[in-house]
Amino acid sequence: MKSDHVVLDCAVPFGERISRIAEAWTRDGRDRGHLVTGKAFFAVHSWHLRHRIDPDTTEAEYVTASHEAIGGDEGWEAMLRERVFCESCGDRYRLENIGLCTGCMRYACYVCATHGSCTGELV
Ligand SMILES: [Zn+2]
Ligand SMILES: [Zn+2]
Repeated sequence: MKSDHVVLDCAVPFGERISRIAEAWTRDGRDRGHLVTGKAFFAVHSWHLRHRIDPDTTEAEYVTASHEAIGGDEGWEAMLRERVFCESCGDRYRLENIGLCTGCMRYACYVCATHGSCTGELV
C-alpha cells in the first residue's frame, strides 16, 4: 500500500524507513492505508523478529498492526510458503528459506548471502 515504496527505498537506512512509516501511521490516526503488504511486509516483519524491537514502541505496534492486516499468523505462514527467486543465483526458494537484503531490497539465498559489495543486512 502507500507505505510499501517507503520500505523499498534503498536510499534510506532501513531502521529509519520503519520509523518514518510508523510515525505517518500514528499521525494519521493509525490509518490502515499506511500498513505494509507483500515484500515490504516481509522485510519489516523479518527485521522486527531479528532485532526484537521493544514491544512498547510505535514501530513494534505498527508491525503488529500490519501483521494483523495481512491475516495474522495464518497470513504470515501462507506468505512463507510462497516461492521467490534468489536475485543473485536464480535458484527458487520458499520465502521461509531465503533472506531479503535490507540494503538493496533483493532476495538472496543463504549461499549468496554476501552479494557483491552490498553491505545490507540479510533478514
Ligand atoms: Zn542465491
Ligand atoms: Zn544487498
